Amino acid sequence: MEKYDCVIIGGGLSGLAAAARLSHFGRKVLLLEKNANLGGLNSFYHRNGVEIDSGLHAMTNFSRKSGDKSLPLNKLLRQLRIPYDDLGLIEQIQSEIRFPGASLVFDNDFCVTAAKFKALFPASAPGFDALCSFIREFDAFSLSAGNGLSARGKIREFISDRLLEDSILLPLMFYGNACEEDMELSQFVIMFRSIFMEGFCRPAAGIRAIIGILEQKIEEASCEIRRKCAAGKITREGKTLRIALSDGSAVETERIISCAGANETARLCESPIEVPARDGQMSFVEAIFCMKEGFEIAGYRNACMFFNDADTLEYRRPGKAFSTSSGVFCCPDNFKYADGQKPKHVFLRLTALANHEFWLDAPEEEYKKLKEEFREEAFAKIAGLSGLKIRQEDIFFSDVFTPRTILRWSGHANGAIYGSPAKLKDGLTPVENLFICGTDQGFLGISGSILSGISIANKYALQ
Ligand SMILES: Cc1cc2nc3c(=O)[nH]c(=O)nc-3n(C[C@H](O)[C@H](O)[C@H](O)COP(=O)(O)OP(=O)(O)OC[C@H]3O[C@@H](n4cnc5c(N)ncnc54)[C@H](O)[C@@H]3O)c2cc1C
Repeated sequence: MEKYDCVIIGGGLSGLAAAARLSHFGRKVLLLEKNANLGGLNSFYHRNGVEIDSGLHAMTNFSRKSGDKSLPLNKLLRQLRIPYDDLGLIEQIQSEIRFPGASLVFDNDFCVTAAKFKALFPASAPGFDALCSFIREFDAFSLSAGNGLSARGKIREFISDRLLEDSILLPLMFYGNACEEDMELSQFVIMFRSIFMEGFCRPAAGIRAIIGILEQKIEEASCEIRRKCAAGKITREGKTLRIALSDGSAVETERIISCAGANETARLCESPIEVPARDGQMSFVEAIFCMKEGFEIAGYRNACMFFNDADTLEYRRPGKAFSTSSGVFCCPDNFKYADGQKPKHVFLRLTALANHEFWLDAPEEEYKKLKEEFREEAFAKIAGLSGLKIRQEDIFFSDVFTPRTILRWSGHANGAIYGSPAKLKDGLTPVENLFICGTDQGFLGISGSILSGISIANKYALQ
């Protein structure tokens, strides 16, 4: 039976990063991915000759090439030996937070963003400054930081304006919160820094650029990637872990690092184990409209618009299949592409909250009907939010992804996009040498999950 130093379960971005880091140091690594594509749901596919990023709206944690070396993006590039220019990063033009009573446009210059927050909420300006100082000083990466503490509770120590509190939380929750209504404190701090203090960018060539670099690094080091090969039962014999594979074979290894989710990985273990994770409840539905060549969005400049129709923030599982009363409208055209770099087609994407119970077991006809209902509502919503004169006949094609799609491509129970509300920050499980990275370790987003893969590999497989 083939034996490895480390088997990585899942070709999500954290799994790919862990494999790239270990293979760089000469470890014999096998990466198992149950689907044909790498990247989890944050991958890409082709339709009508057009490449579509299945997940990517915006990558958080932007830093300039000459930026502070200790920023997360620079750290992850250094650890993976990726030259900055290889990612081809371009910055957002701007993004917007929109409530009925407040609209705030921000970009990657935090001084300007902070000044705008304070101008919009002058009575809370000193409190906002104090909150920013707290965020700068907080050690969010310590394993015990903020455990179980409420972000709302902390914000209210500085700010008493509910609309300002919700305006800050709206983008942070939609881009990285597994809990309803409130956030865990360290998650809040990480997301505040990564969205407001660092900012949004994207690789000009889409997520393919990142997946391609990681895949190449793994393969150049002669490590193995097996696609369409799911990890099955995990058993132990002495110090060796054995994994049964979906192709009927099995492999042995000293260590396993899994990005398949904490509970999902626990369920693979032969003897039942308990991890302090719960199956997540927060799922999304997204409609993607690819517009015909020549369609223009002149005048509309937001890369992301985080919207909320009510006066207070709605971030909870809706009581129906979906709710478009809060969400994100993303327009990937609104990044600072160089001349000739822009994709031929404009994409318009609307993400909203979904209740997995209405989607996962729906009979096929009902499922299709729900998708169509969402598609229509999302199109009308985009027209309303953007003020763009868009017509059905401008659409080249469209697609809708649902909690069922998320479950299929990420494996996270309930199609919970950000996994378990309780995270395993130290990556440890009750099984010796079985570790969790990625979503359920608590580092979310593209940059966060890559950093998670690197740090778990460093801590448990390289020392
Ligand atoms: C639709 C969507 C859009 C997003 N958009 C953005 C964005 O714009 N910007 C941003 O920064 N972040 C975004 N994110 C978040 C970001 O993509 C995730 O936080 C990150 O990619 C999670 O990576 P991960 O390594 O935890 O694993 P996941 O992506 O969750 O991948 C887990 C992998 O494990 C595989 N797997 C599961 N079980 C098994 C098994 N038994 N055997 C083998 N393989 C298995 C799955 O097939 C999957 O490939 C988005 C996420 C989603 C779902």
